[in-house]
Amino acid sequence: MLRAGVVAVQGDVSEHADAVRRAAAAHGEECEVVEIRQSGAVSDCDVLLMPGGESTAISRLLRTEGIDEEIRDHVAAGKPVLATCAGLIVAAADAKDDRVDPLSLLDVSVDRNAFGRQRDSFEAFLDVEGLDEPFPAVFIRAPQVDAVGDDVEVLARWDGVPVAVRQGSVVGTSFHPELTTDSRLHDLALFDGVEAEPALND
Ligand code: GLN
Repeated sequence: MLRAGVVAVQGDVSEHADAVRRAAAAHGEECEVVEIRQSGAVSDCDVLLMPGGESTAISRLLRTEGIDEEIRDHVAAGKPVLATCAGLIVAAADAKDDRVDPLSLLDVSVDRNAFGRQRDSFEAFLDVEGLDEPFPAVFIRAPQVDAVGDDVEVLARWDGVPVAVRQGSVVGTSFHPELTTDSRLHDLALFDGVEAEPALND
């Protein structure tokens, strides 16, 4: 049985839990979901999800709970991660905000809230590398990826801006695939042909 860890210090945890269960089922896998609030749980997980929410709060809690290092170890072992919105901000190499201590799982720089405030939230159908049909993407106070390292593959763009990226076993999205019933992005990130190679920069 596959064990999926959802980082649950803050953010839209239950939505990711549902989405990863759906993706696993579509992939013919049984899946147990573990909510990660303290250190000690990550190493038992096969895949990890880093939800949307508030990146400054998530970053602070990951550090104080000592979960940050465990996530880095998970990636160094080549295991898959899907990081969405605030999760992408925390997974980045540079979040340009002193309150966020980025984990450098993805060699990208992000601009928090650059797609606008809450009232500027929007949905768009995106062409995503690896998916046959456009994906319904929900953007809420979404970050923009404004610089991408050489080892990072851009999977999707909106208005020319990268909004889905992959490096090694880590996929990050500016939008919220967990807020739709479409679990193809979870499937792509967590179960589809992800090469078991480290994506760490340090
Ligand atoms: N703007 C939020 C942040 O910086 C992220 C928003 C989201 O996850 N929907 O943390």
